[in-house]
Amino acid sequence: MTFAIHGLTVSRGVAIGRAVLVASSRVDVAHYFIEAGDVAAEIDRARKGRDAVVEEIHRLQETITHMGPKEAPHELAALLDVHLMLLQDEELVRGVKHWITDRLYNAEWALTTQLEIIVRQFDEMEDEYLRERKADLEQIAERTLRAMKGTASPMVVQPSRSTRKPSQQDLLLDDTVDVPLVLIAHDLSPADMLQFKQSVFAGFITDVGGKTSHTAIVARSMDIPAVVGARTASQLVRQDDWVIIDGDAGVVIIDPSSIILAEYGFKQRQVELERGRLLRLLNTPAVTMDGEKVQLLANIEMPEDAQAALKSGALGVGLFRSEFLFMGRQSRLPDEEEQYQAYKRAVEGMQGLPVTIRTVDVGADKPLDNSQRDTAHLNPALGLRAIRWSLADPAMFLTQLRAILRAAAHGQVHLLVPMLAHASEIRQTLSHIDHARATLDNKGIAYGPVKIGAMIEIPAAALNVKLFLKHFDFLSIGTNDLIQYTLAIDRADESVAHLYDPLHPAVLRLVSETIAECRAQGKDVSVCGEMAGDVSLTRLLLGMGLRSFSMHPAQILAIKQEVLRSDTTKLAPWARRVCQAEDPVREMASKAL
Ligand code: PEP
Ligand code: MG
Repeated sequence: MTFAIHGLTVSRGVAIGRAVLVASSRVDVAHYFIEAGDVAAEIDRARKGRDAVVEEIHRLQETITHMGPKEAPHELAALLDVHLMLLQDEELVRGVKHWITDRLYNAEWALTTQLEIIVRQFDEMEDEYLRERKADLEQIAERTLRAMKGTASPMVVQPSRSTRKPSQQDLLLDDTVDVPLVLIAHDLSPADMLQFKQSVFAGFITDVGGKTSHTAIVARSMDIPAVVGARTASQLVRQDDWVIIDGDAGVVIIDPSSIILAEYGFKQRQVELERGRLLRLLNTPAVTMDGEKVQLLANIEMPEDAQAALKSGALGVGLFRSEFLFMGRQSRLPDEEEQYQAYKRAVEGMQGLPVTIRTVDVGADKPLDNSQRDTAHLNPALGLRAIRWSLADPAMFLTQLRAILRAAAHGQVHLLVPMLAHASEIRQTLSHIDHARATLDNKGIAYGPVKIGAMIEIPAAALNVKLFLKHFDFLSIGTNDLIQYTLAIDRADESVAHLYDPLHPAVLRLVSETIAECRAQGKDVSVCGEMAGDVSLTRLLLGMGLRSFSMHPAQILAIKQEVLRSDTTKLAPWARRVCQAEDPVREMASKAL
């Protein structure tokens, strides 16, 4: 039966494919595709994991037979019997084999997928006793996952899966073709997302997350349709269901009829045509109708993204979120050499164009590892995040600074510092940079010059921008956090997503006054938050005087098209009126330019 789920739009376009559910587990589970030749070995790994738990239970049974009823009540022995029975359950074993063999899932993914299916069956049971066995099943799965930990083979990307685009006819008639896959999860960390970035999914859906959550940002950078905040999607959709993601509307359609499929197939082709049209602007300079030059830069997460940045016609990298090098590594942080090599790759990849490397910004919705999510503090977004984390661990910070300075010997590098608010933080940061240079001097290691910039993403910084301009060569406005902190809206929380408003008068005032002050002092300023890649806001930002925008490479051509159609002499007075209006949205709409 066809039904639809509404969420928040993250990334535009249409994806049609079969659902791949990623179950959330209390154990940190890796999801990756194995090579076809490794199926037998992977099944063996799953079997060994299970055997280890069976053995563990046998040992426990042995121990309790020597105990009295007080230390080992009768229920315990019965429970162990149930666990043994569940471990050997035919459906579980067969299912795991199926996902490994037919879908090339790694053993852990296969186990959690099958578990999810069985758990749903348990949920539907009338019998309360049987329903409660669900918890036992989860326990034994967790123990098996733990037993398998450390035995995983290195991650493999399976490039062949969705390289062939099936035709509409394929989709309608033939279930056996190599159809696109759509990933559905309750939640995905930015690190998970990064892992999937190299993978084969045609679209993403998550139950939780706001439009500017980091998970959404990485999904957007993959330039595939995605919807977040779809609340119960991961419970309502079943493995292998046909799913349509309408990224423009933030709607997910499950089990679509052939008429709906055909309609969305048409829409998909329209989106592709539009992309093709935009490609014609690739080599056109971004200059407004009145001759103002506009710099369009790329936001990247990994050095390899430099390629996509160049391909999109970006004039440099305006934001390299270096924290992605630090995430998902079980706390083994990259050392100076590894970081240096990564930054150098990004710098060389940009072939002489500038690269703005932001120092690490972990914390809040970007934990180093899924297992290290900050649950100890009530408001991690207000806690030890970004520069606060760096200043709390000077050795780690100095390591990163030295690596960035060394990479600057290979091309133009700008160093950007996130989340500064206090004069003392500015002083400490600058003194650490001096210290890093001095260490390199002492060791005779080569490094290059860098421009040093600060992110304006805390209202206190925007209100105190003159202080920042005394100390920094350039500023970059992080509107994602600036909005979050100005409006007290958690950017990762879908339940308050409707209050996350880039056009709130307070936000517009902080952004426009920061731009105006930079221009008055002749300092470079750019916007690197999601506002910069939102075509509906391009004219407003141009009208505020912004001439440098940094965004996902996929957005660059659409923004360029908007720039080419704009006349800043008309936009400036209009933007002033919008910023002063009680209702900026109405003001924008009533006198649209
Ligand atoms: C921002 O806050 O706008 C920004 C660009 O940084 P991030 O999204 O990584 O927090
Ligand atoms: Mg930020």
